[in-house]
Amino acid sequence: MTEGSTTYDAIYLSPHLDDAVLSCGGQIFRRIAEGQRVLILTLFTQDFSTSDVSEATRTVLDLMSLPVDEAMAIRRQEDLNACRVLGAELIHCPLPEALARRDAQGKPVYGSLSQLFGPMSFSDFPFVNEVAEALRGLPEAKEVFAPLTIGSHVDHQVVRQAAEDVFGTELSYYEDFPYVAWRRFALQKVLGWRKKGWRSEVVALEEKDLQARIDAIRAYSTQLKPLFKGEAGIEKSVHGWARKVGGERLWRRV
Ligand SMILES: [Zn+2]
Repeated sequence: MTEGSTTYDAIYLSPHLDDAVLSCGGQIFRRIAEGQRVLILTLFTQDFSTSDVSEATRTVLDLMSLPVDEAMAIRRQEDLNACRVLGAELIHCPLPEALARRDAQGKPVYGSLSQLFGPMSFSDFPFVNEVAEALRGLPEAKEVFAPLTIGSHVDHQVVRQAAEDVFGTELSYYEDFPYVAWRRFALQKVLGWRKKGWRSEVVALEEKDLQARIDAIRAYSTQLKPLFKGEAGIEKSVHGWARKVGGERLWRRV
């Protein structure tokens, strides 16, 4: 990664239309306040096909009260509004999210909700290369951040794998929020019991940084019920976890 006038200080890879802001909103706001250039790349932003909607897709969209034909357009707008709050630049990559992906025979790669939080399907492996191809087209950056895959969502696994293929050991990782706050030993499950080979760095945040993250998260109105049981839960959740770790925690390989 080389420096130049078009070089970003940081690029945050976001599998879905919310992950980077949910997990790293405070540090993104802070970097921008310090005059840095920050780009968020949201990978899975493609519209769902209205002619061929799986049962699992319908269940998820119902949970968010989203109509199939407008679901992703609404979510793309939420992402844009959230990035405006932080002042981050944003690129939407039009790749399909897990529920919309089909294998070579045309069958859904992940047919049920529980499969979304399990191991990556073998038939999803070629798709990792497609994501890696998209990452190779990114502008230069001093640092690139990928999700650590806490919560084990297959889309997060795909992004991490593709990012490792492209950026290798230079890659930095963020803790997937709010998943990291939901499960005991969530971190150990991903990094191993002793977290051998990993070092952490806590980005200490001021109240105004955390407040900007909370304000940005508010923009994802369709996600607030499933993630925080409504708007009132955001503040408690973000502050609670930030107090526990001392800010926002990042991970790098030793
Ligand atoms: Zn996600």
